[in-house]
Amino acid sequence: MAKFDESLEFTNKNSWKTMSDETKAEVFAFCEGYKTFLDNSKTERESVDTAIELLTAAGFVDFEEILKDKAKAVPGTKLYYNYKNRSLFIAVLGNTAPENGFNLVGAHIDCPRLDLKPAPLFEDTNIAYLKTHYYGGIKKYHWLTIPLALHGVVIKKDGTTLKVCIGEKDSDPKFMISDLLPHLASNQMTKTAASFVDAEQMSVIIGTIPGKEPEDKDIDEKAFTVKQNILTYLAEEYGIDEKDFLRAELVIVPAAKACDIGLDRGLIASYGHDDRICAYTELRAIMDLEKTPEKTAVCYFADKEEIGSVGNTGARSNALEYFVSLLCSLYTDNDVMWLTKRCLNASRMLSADVTAAFDPSYPEVYDKSNAAFLGHGIAIEKYTGARGKSGTSDASAEFVYEVTECFDSENIAWQLNEMGKIEAGGGGTIAQFMADKGIEVIDCGVPLFNMHAPLELASKADIYWAYRAYKSFMK
Ligand code: MN
Ligand code: MN
Repeated sequence: MAKFDESLEFTNKNSWKTMSDETKAEVFAFCEGYKTFLDNSKTERESVDTAIELLTAAGFVDFEEILKDKAKAVPGTKLYYNYKNRSLFIAVLGNTAPENGFNLVGAHIDCPRLDLKPAPLFEDTNIAYLKTHYYGGIKKYHWLTIPLALHGVVIKKDGTTLKVCIGEKDSDPKFMISDLLPHLASNQMTKTAASFVDAEQMSVIIGTIPGKEPEDKDIDEKAFTVKQNILTYLAEEYGIDEKDFLRAELVIVPAAKACDIGLDRGLIASYGHDDRICAYTELRAIMDLEKTPEKTAVCYFADKEEIGSVGNTGARSNALEYFVSLLCSLYTDNDVMWLTKRCLNASRMLSADVTAAFDPSYPEVYDKSNAAFLGHGIAIEKYTGARGKSGTSDASAEFVYEVTECFDSENIAWQLNEMGKIEAGGGGTIAQFMADKGIEVIDCGVPLFNMHAPLELASKADIYWAYRAYKSFMK
């Protein structure tokens, strides 16, 4: 008689169901720190700054200081390397030499948003606006009628950097893009979601009060426009003028803080889970390593992933090789580049990025037996890509074995998934660019609802499991 043998089957289980009260308390405590990080790190530059603050407090030192005095580098040395203010490397030196390879975890710290155009300021019908140019894959209509904040940097005439953050404090003003009322939207409502908002229409309201009309009619009317009022405010408050916008990186992001969702507080809604959820968990993982690791542990915060990992701070750049070569220079004065290549070729990496969680409101785009689920643990993707695995690095079976065995050895909840049905769409991560360098790499991150929306949703359980997974991989 055939009998049902449960041990023969693989079940993707909800990790809350078997979680101890003790672990659950750890999950909730861990996520409080994550929410604070999110609120303080809405751009790649702010993520670098916040991370360096946390790292410094935890005893990590600036790599430049170690490079000046290489005798300071010993197994267990903790360091960070600020790469051009928009990306970051963190390392804990291991017991073994670089030719044995490093254990890397890499996430990205840029998020979809609205960048300001170089000359953004204009006035129409007594309303001052800032023109935007969206960054990354967004649904444009998501950005209408929600409170927005302005973040970024302006390089002033004297060469100093002005950090801008307006709209995050409760007392701060916010900004907004308007939408049509339904009463007059009969034509708009017939258009597709992709087309009913034109990108050129996505200008942000920043002011509406013109100057008081002069009694002396000879005075130039231009001095009393809303635009002039706004420029006067910017000059008085920040010492900048219209030309300074040309030399700035200013971005519009949702003016919202991370918050719990659900009566049971099981989810966190926030701007920028993708991919600061993996950045924060890898950061905490490397900070919390209890012992000197066998192999050097490296965390990478990459920029520009959302627009194809381009630029000198993106993952396609030479940045990682350069950083690894600096680490290798601690071990040899000769043949640093040869050692760098040996090291990269022997290295292993978790490409820490988010994926889509199965959403029962939209089941048609998922293959349920190959989907990731909220609360089921860190999601491992052997491959990403689109149209027949195009644009993926496709991890080896050997490496999938190593990674899943590593997680199993610490009872870390994990699930294997594909992001959606084969022909539903697709996407890529930094993994393929890391694989180009010879590194063994696999995607491994937190599954989300409404990825790339102004507010994304993640399960607290998965955030915790990602932290545990990255830590177990590096130790
Ligand atoms: Mn991502
Ligand atoms: Mn993304």
